[in-house]
Amino acid sequence: MTIKILPPQLANQIAAGEVVERPASVIKELVENSLDAGATRVDIEIEKGGSKLIKIQDNGSGIAKEQLALALSRHATSKLASLDDLDAILSFGFRGEALASISSVSRLTLTSRTAEQTEAWQAYAEGSDMAVKVMPAAHPVGSTVEAVDLFFNTPARRRFLKSDKTEFTHIDEWLKRIALVRKEIHFTLKHNGKMVRNYRPAMSDTQYLQRLAQVSGKQFSEQALRVDCSHNGLQLSGYIQSPHFDATSSDTQYFYVNGRLVRDRLVNHAVRQAFAQQLAGVQVGYVLMLTLDPHQVDVNVHPAKHEVRFHESRYVHDFILQALQSALTQAESLGLEDDVF
Ligand code: ADP
Ligand code: MG
Repeated sequence: MTIKILPPQLANQIAAGEVVERPASVIKELVENSLDAGATRVDIEIEKGGSKLIKIQDNGSGIAKEQLALALSRHATSKLASLDDLDAILSFGFRGEALASISSVSRLTLTSRTAEQTEAWQAYAEGSDMAVKVMPAAHPVGSTVEAVDLFFNTPARRRFLKSDKTEFTHIDEWLKRIALVRKEIHFTLKHNGKMVRNYRPAMSDTQYLQRLAQVSGKQFSEQALRVDCSHNGLQLSGYIQSPHFDATSSDTQYFYVNGRLVRDRLVNHAVRQAFAQQLAGVQVGYVLMLTLDPHQVDVNVHPAKHEVRFHESRYVHDFILQALQSALTQAESLGLEDDVF
């Protein structure tokens, strides 16, 4: 048996197995990079459910010419310098793996311009050959990443892709999740040349409710109850289904912790308990954002999973439960007033 270091391309492809499962995961990584770069507008364009083309354009900070090649290499990140930073991470990225992984399984072009540069530059990396070429290009301040022919060089992975429609649905669902929490960002999605989603910036409650209607339907947004509660450094805000309106199950179930979508047993339990009396057995709809000191929660669990760990889990659970109960009680007393008049 001989022990050998993996060649970089193979190492990247193996890492890609974890980060890049399907077109939706590519879009997740690229849009998160745009948001980390401070973009206020992100335009997504896909062809054939993303298997032919994924193109993300943002108006963020851009990447300087001399950093373009580095951005594509593994473990290269501008977001983390030491292990201490990891405790208080607020950006989406920090592993420095996404661009390297995506470029190892697609034909990737990164075009970018910073505000200091008078011209844009483009880096091209093709999966089969990790050498990066940098050339002049035309682009406004910000970045565009284009990933063409996803998994063209890993046929076994390519075969796992589902129909264009299914892959599109995954992308659309992911975009809903991010659109609900990054309400100030303008997102658009084009599929096969046609604009299919246009989430305009939501700067007021009314505009946010319009976005909520786009994502979850008018019925949900019209009856939703507002939640807004803070205590001891914890803050919970968002909307929950009104127990009076209807008792149908909703698939609008989004819970964010410091801006990240979370699927968490503790959170689910608190939500179910809050509704236990009014809507037992119904899948209650909610869009809730929990904000807390980043030192009180671990997010460094897995790049593609939605797990977090609260340091004071009991306390967080009870806070969520009480915040929801008080929103429900308020709605109840309003309901009574309605009956009186
Ligand atoms: P990570 O996001 O974990 O740092 P990535 O591989 O996703 O790793 O990106 C590597 C680096 O490239 C980032 O740290 C960032 O500096 C830069 N970068 C990537 N995408 C963008 C973008 N859209 N705008 C500006 N910088 C970007
Ligand atoms: Mg990233």
